[in-house]
Amino acid sequence: MMNYLLIGAALSFTTAAIAATDISKLTEAERHALAAKTEVWAPVPPVVTAAEGQAPSDAIQLLDNTLSQWQSVNTGAKAQWTMADGVLTVKPGTGDIRSKASFCDVQLHLEWRAGNDRMDKEGQLRNNSGIFLQEMYEIQILDSYQNKTYPNGQAAAVYKQSIPLVNATRPTGEWQHYDIIYTAPRFDGEKRVSPGYVTVLHNGVLVQNHTEISGTTEWIGQPQVKAHGCLPLKLQDHGDNVSFRNIWLRKL
Ligand code: MG
Repeated sequence: MMNYLLIGAALSFTTAAIAATDISKLTEAERHALAAKTEVWAPVPPVVTAAEGQAPSDAIQLLDNTLSQWQSVNTGAKAQWTMADGVLTVKPGTGDIRSKASFCDVQLHLEWRAGNDRMDKEGQLRNNSGIFLQEMYEIQILDSYQNKTYPNGQAAAVYKQSIPLVNATRPTGEWQHYDIIYTAPRFDGEKRVSPGYVTVLHNGVLVQNHTEISGTTEWIGQPQVKAHGCLPLKLQDHGDNVSFRNIWLRKL
């Protein structure tokens, strides 16, 4: 009975008082009872399997050998890019492509490779593409290996808005990957009540750390704020030789 009284008294303490309590003088049962006060037992996270080198079990795969989940932005018809052995390659001149499905907040994994056929070019002309979150916010894809350009337009930049923390680009022609955590902007009617945010790891290296997205990523001019709901992902045809594989995402 004494123990219960003591526990009851201890449990009524404020956090500061508990911190001041000489816990070592409590019994094992009393300490466990105190500890239980800060245990949270619900909700229980769902189980996701995540084997090494594989997409998590709850991921949505966006690439298969048929390009069935993508369409041309220009025509709305089937995407005309080249698909072979799970590798998608820009077909210059056919235009950007977008996912048929729309997304809001996501964790996105994307692997890309810039070809080594543009070594005579530099800057933005060295195999350029991009992944547009919600069709509006471009995370730049560019061969930025020993290739000088404006830093807010190099690989892993939020295009024309945020310079990556470091340049983690692998040598030209090698596969590399982005892992992106994206929080979409929120709107109340036409009014933006919260901007979007993006965190990007380039080849496992943090390059955008909860970066605020000002608005659309414009080539010319300032970012624009346009109200929208969930929208597709878009991949850019910049007329260059860039390939993609293993694109998956998890809705958040
Ligand atoms: Mg681009």
